[in-house]
Amino acid sequence: MFLKSKTAIVTGSTSGIGLAYAKAFAAEGASVMINGFGDAADIEKERAGLEASSGAKALYSAADMTDGDAIATMVAECHDKLGGPDIIVNNAGIQHVAAIEDFPVEKWNAILAINLSSAFHMMHHAVSHMKEKGWGRIISTASAHSLVASPNKSAYVAAKHGLVGLTKTVALEVATHGITVNAISPGYVWTPLVEKQIPDTMKTRGLTREQVINDVLLDAQPTKQFVTVEQVAALALFLCRDEAAGITGANLPVDGGWTAQ
Ligand code: NAD
Repeated sequence: MFLKSKTAIVTGSTSGIGLAYAKAFAAEGASVMINGFGDAADIEKERAGLEASSGAKALYSAADMTDGDAIATMVAECHDKLGGPDIIVNNAGIQHVAAIEDFPVEKWNAILAINLSSAFHMMHHAVSHMKEKGWGRIISTASAHSLVASPNKSAYVAAKHGLVGLTKTVALEVATHGITVNAISPGYVWTPLVEKQIPDTMKTRGLTREQVINDVLLDAQPTKQFVTVEQVAALALFLCRDEAAGITGANLPVDGGWTAQ
């Protein structure tokens, strides 16, 4: 229970990788604020489960990551009700697959807002609380697409590359305050985000569902396996340990060897 006195906000934690981060932090005793969209009863069940696991409070915020004011309110609510935040994970993300000439402008704007600008707003509001304590952990879920591109994912690839630039910059700004700032770059993890992009990938590349899964997704990774949400969360947990204080400004892949090729 090494996070017993700590508070974490995980954006986009009602499913997939974000929920795994929240569970990993709660299992180590952290108070957690979860965020994202979904069925209200399912979210309440997850929130209550986090409380049961941590023995500490867990709260849910419906803040929309496209709304900077809502993000400010979420961080303030966390500070007032739970303390901290000591740990923030910028994880909310969406994806859209389309050729550049067909890419809807509103999708470009939404992806940049949710996958990149929300991380700016989170850090902008949370860093002063971390500086007060002289300890903090900022983790952003980037992607293998922060290191390599894939066709028809212009907004996603641009946002994830930007997220790594933001990570490095803020890491330098807060380095003397006991705050580390890192990105984790997963390869393909079987979550709703990946499942939703399959029909568009079938369309843009003229492939069947099986071909997309085997020849596009799994083939990208030398392990020929999906990365699991638990494998990604385990790295986030390690970054929160005092032993990880020397790791900052890094972009760490958990990608089955994808970007080593
Ligand atoms: P997911 O769809 O399971 O989770 C996305 C989360 O973001 C959900 O909780 C959703 O409600 C939330 N969200 C979406 N729009 C939001 C908004 N406007 N405001 C607040 N919350 C919002 O997908 P996931 O795969 O777990 O994705 C989590 C992160 O991991 C994303 O940043 C994604 O880009 C990144 N990632 C995923 C993979 C993968 O293969 N699944 C690979 C690399 C990186």
